[in-house]
Amino acid sequence: MPVADFEPVIGLEVHAQLLTESKIFCGCSTAFGAPPNTQVCPVCLALPGSLPALNRKVVEMAIKAGKALGCKIAERSVFARKNYFYPDLPKGYQISQYELPICLGGTVHVAQPDGSLRGFGLTRIHIEEDAGKNIHGDAASEVDLNRAGTPLIEIVGEPELRSADEATEYLKSLRLTLVYLGINDGNLEEGSFRCDANVSVRRKGTEKFGTRVELKNINSYRFIRQAIEFEIERQVELIESGGTVRLETRLFDHEKGVTRSMRSKEEANDYRYFPEPDLPPLLVSKEWIDSVQLPARLPNQAFSELAASGIPATDARTIIADARLVTLYFDVLAALPAITDEGRKWTANTLCGELSRALNDGTADLAALKCTPAQIARVFALQTGGTISSTAGRTVLAELFATGSEPDAIVTAKGLAQVSDTGALEAIVDAVLAKSPGEVEKYKAGKKNLLGFFVGAAMKELKGKGNPGELNKIFKSKLGD
Ligand code: ADP
Ligand code: MG
Ligand code: ZN
Repeated sequence: MPVADFEPVIGLEVHAQLLTESKIFCGCSTAFGAPPNTQVCPVCLALPGSLPALNRKVVEMAIKAGKALGCKIAERSVFARKNYFYPDLPKGYQISQYELPICLGGTVHVAQPDGSLRGFGLTRIHIEEDAGKNIHGDAASEVDLNRAGTPLIEIVGEPELRSADEATEYLKSLRLTLVYLGINDGNLEEGSFRCDANVSVRRKGTEKFGTRVELKNINSYRFIRQAIEFEIERQVELIESGGTVRLETRLFDHEKGVTRSMRSKEEANDYRYFPEPDLPPLLVSKEWIDSVQLPARLPNQAFSELAASGIPATDARTIIADARLVTLYFDVLAALPAITDEGRKWTANTLCGELSRALNDGTADLAALKCTPAQIARVFALQTGGTISSTAGRTVLAELFATGSEPDAIVTAKGLAQVSDTGALEAIVDAVLAKSPGEVEKYKAGKKNLLGFFVGAAMKELKGKGNPGELNKIFKSKLGD
């Protein structure tokens, strides 16, 4: 296989729309889905004489992203004009940042199956404005400028990814972080989180990067994987058959699963970047940077914390995939009688097991959970206190998620309480022993594993509701151990 002789090199450029209420340089709404050209004004329509005024929230969100991703935040950054002609860009240039972006460096961490985190480097994050949208109909092409001027951050990754899998994991982690921060809605389909993938290949063992191709138009994880994998094979086959990879932009055709050339770099725009004269340099004080708050735990920190307390990486990943689950996890922990590893594992199991089942069944809704963390924690206390078995615990949880009734009331209503009353248990134990003289003799002769047989028989009498710990104890003492 020729592909095996080559190593792919991938670097991603992600555009993330910021969740501000108004646009970056004017007061127009950024709400999605309004009738075309109803959220526009002289500034975002580029009428002569209009001037941009920077939305403070945009800067705050960019700082937030930068801090969360471990970037260096520049106290001085500069807006620049990126000139190109396209119908969806009324000014004829996009206001972006070029030589001096707001964030430098940083890392995207990816959770690994062994519970560790692996870091992939970032080059920079800069602030820019989105363009409008061209809508191509049968009779005509039309332009909707509602999106023009929506704030974006572009997160440029270093070419450190080596497979489509790594690229997908990197994207998922980055998306999770931005959604967590509340600065992006992470919607790939609607294009509020978009990715361009730069792909090259080099022969294994060589240092020098190959010529890269920029892939555009990939709006789902599946397509990103397909596009990158197709492109790796295309480049390897091209090189193996004596050709050379051209520096170009290619579009992914998801119906055919192929990439096709859109423009070569020779045809590419010369953007003629220059500093934006209508905006002063962006000055961000240390105090401002310090005042931007991050959530108590970012997804990757939560992942490390969960993994360190012995929770399997798959469960830890399930929990960190939704900020609400992380909050719930730590709120349940806080409501337990004491925070132990047993309690942590039980809570993780509950969230990834019973709760996720209820969410799938539609009997629970994470956006409107019917029960409180304290009620969930109460189930654990009922189990560890011996009131109910772990099997009964699952029944209580299912009912709790569906109805929000008090766990104690559920136990009573469903008759789930274990029989722990010593007198009652002793009577059953005596009856079991009286019925099985042969086993008693063998036990006394050394066949100690018959204890399970006795407890099982008693459980049967008790219809599964005997407290197994108590039964064990009583049998042992009656059998002279
Ligand atoms: P441009 O602005 O033309 O897109 P950049 O230098 O900003 O170019 O690079 C953009 C992206 O391309 C970055 O994410 C970077 O990691 C990636 N990249 C650069 N060189 C290569 C390469 N040889 N192979 C794959 N990706 C690359
Ligand atoms: Mg690029
Ligand atoms: Zn406007």
